Order: sequence, then C-alpha cells, then structure tokens
Amino acid sequence: MTIPTVQLNDGYDIPQLGYGVFRVPAGDTERAVSEALEVGYRHIDTAAIYGNEEGVGAAIANSGIPRRELFVTTKLWNDRHDGNDPHDAIRESLDRLGLERVDLYLIHWPTPAKDNYLHAWEQLIELRAAGLTRSIGVSNFLVPHLERIVAATGVVPAVDQIELHPAHQQRDVTDWAAAQDVRIEAWGPLGQGKYDLFGIPAVREAASAHQKSPAQVVLRWHLQKGNIVFPKSVRRERLEENIDVFDFELSDAELRAIDALDPGDGTGRVSSHPDEVN
Ligand code: NAD
Repeated sequence: MTIPTVQLNDGYDIPQLGYGVFRVPAGDTERAVSEALEVGYRHIDTAAIYGNEEGVGAAIANSGIPRRELFVTTKLWNDRHDGNDPHDAIRESLDRLGLERVDLYLIHWPTPAKDNYLHAWEQLIELRAAGLTRSIGVSNFLVPHLERIVAATGVVPAVDQIELHPAHQQRDVTDWAAAQDVRIEAWGPLGQGKYDLFGIPAVREAASAHQKSPAQVVLRWHLQKGNIVFPKSVRRERLEENIDVFDFELSDAELRAIDALDPGDGTGRVSSHPDEVN
C-alpha cells in the first residue's frame, strides 16, 4: 500500500492519509496504532490532551518500522502557551512518545480570549530551530489568527488543522491557505458521525457508482480536494476500509455534488467554534 504524500511549504513530505487517535482510550491505543501500522498507515495524529501519546510511542517502538518512514504529529494544549511552557510541553510529549523529535507540532487551539497564541507561535519557531520538531503548524486557526501570526513573525505555518467535512467546508480558511501555500488538514473528516453524512444521496450515489462505501467516497472527496486526512476508528476492518481509497476517482460532477452540501452559514459545524475555546 503506497500512500501519496503532499509537500509542505518547508519542503518536507507528509502522507496525505493517516490515522488519528482522538478518543482512542489510553489502554487501547497501543493495540489500535499497532494494527494501523500493520494495515499500512504511516502517519499518526495525536495530541497531549488525548492522553494516549504513550500508547502511540509503544506501538511505534514495537513496530520495527524505521523512524524515517513514519510521520508523527502531536499538539500543544491550551494551558501551555505562556512563557517557556511550550518548551516543557514538547519535551514531555517527546518523552511519552519515546521520540527525539516529532515531524509536526501544532498549536491545538488559538484560545483568542487569552491572547497568547502569537507568543505560542514564536515559541514553536524556536522549537523547530532546536530540532524538537521538523515542521510547525496550527490547528483551529481562523483567518484573523493566521494573518496575525504571519504578519508578526513572517513564518507561515506548514498546516492548519481544522474541522472540515462536507457540511462544514470553511472556504474562507481554505482559500486563504491555498493563497499562502498552507496545507489543510481536515479533522472530523467523516463529520465525527454526528450527522447522517453517509445517507446523503450525493454520497450514496457515488458509493454505488464506484462500488465503494460512503465513508470511502467522503475520504476520496477530501483527497481529491487536496486535504490531508486521518480518520479515526478502533476497528481493524474500518482501518482497512479507510485506507482502501486509492483505486478509484470521483468525477468532477460527483465532487461538485459533495461540494454543494455545505449550507454556507456555519450551521454544519459539529464541534466547538475556535473563538469559544479558551
Ligand atoms: P472522524 O470524522 O474521523 O470520525 C470518527 C468516527 O467515524 C469514529 O467514531 C467511527 O465510529 C466513525 N468511522 C470511522 N471510519 C468509519 C467507516 N469506515 N465507516 C463508518 N464509520 C466510520 O472524527 P475525528 O476522530 O474527530 O477526527 C479524526 C482525527 O482528527 C482525530 O482522531 C484527531 O486525530 C483529529 N482531530 C483533531 C481535532 C483538533 O482540534 N485539532 C479535533 C478533533 C479531531
């Protein structure tokens, strides 16, 4: 199984499809990540707040897969933005992961009411220079947050990891990112199962036309839009299903039918608004 890569604006490649471990229980993470690696995933998305970095690290250590073949992302939690805390936080994450550096380190949320995400971004620039992470990026940043950190530092994040699925496509952010050479990572790519995405006719019809599942159609839509995705499941058969999306192509009409599923007024959001997470 060869997973295509996407080039980041710092020249490094990231596998376009990975495995995300939000809400994978700590006690199940080593098993789940080991199975994902067996199935062929080489990109793991975790975060300090998920409480399962140890399990990710154990699975990596036991896999025997060379470190250079793996892409590992983790994230700085909201209460660690100030002072020198980002340095301590990444070292704690690296200890739990059993790694010397991660491939990508993200500010998890901008927490705008605290007004410290610019400071956190300056700290991430230092962490990259210190070799603790190869690439740096942000998550849940809206256009004003992105514009501010770029204007102040001149350093453009490699990615913005945002809630993105057919009902919530965030075109203001994706347009800005495309213009600035920032890659979009789509979290909740399947809508976190919070609405009947797989029952929507545009998705169902494409699935039957290609003899694929609705989940595979939605993941394929993301990939053809250029999004980086890491759907979550703890079931091996779904891990296998979610990676089996490289042998078919949606037509322009099928893509447009899914593009049309966003009501355009923000009501398709299934999780928190970034301005309200502080
Ligand atoms: P998701 O859209 O990947 O949905 C996961 C749910 O979809 C699972 O509970 C599973 O039951 C179901 N599912 C998975 N594969 C399926 C299949 N083939 N058929 C039917 N149902 C299927 O949502 P997510 O886990 O929230 O997002 C993916 C990853 O994004 C996370 O694991 C995490 O790494 C990341 N994430 C980041 C943030 C952030 O703030 N940066 C927030 C949430 C998630």
